[in-house]
Amino acid sequence: MNHEQIMAALPAGSFDKASIWRILSNLADRGLLRRMDLGDRIWRYELLDACRTVEDDHTHFLCESCGDVLCLPPLEVRARDGAMPAALMNADFQVRVMGRCASCTSG
Ligand SMILES: [Zn+2]
Ligand SMILES: [Zn+2]
Repeated sequence: MNHEQIMAALPAGSFDKASIWRILSNLADRGLLRRMDLGDRIWRYELLDACRTVEDDHTHFLCESCGDVLCLPPLEVRARDGAMPAALMNADFQVRVMGRCASCTSG
């Protein structure tokens, strides 16, 4: 969920936008939420629990049409011939998967 979606889910007028922003930021810093930018410059937050931990940094699919986000199973990146350039061994890279979700393509 993004900040706007979280604000919309709370009773109107009961929470201050800046306070929620700060709380989300604190929870992300503490490892309770994962904060991610999926390429559209909007921070989204995902609850980390027994099933989703900080170490399990799975890839997300962002629907460019409706903005829906789906968690993908852990992916592995390797060259077709199986080789891995040495420079990538300890690199921190993110895979960005964008497109149109099933409900946007079926309509
Ligand atoms: Zn969609
Ligand atoms: Zn996820």
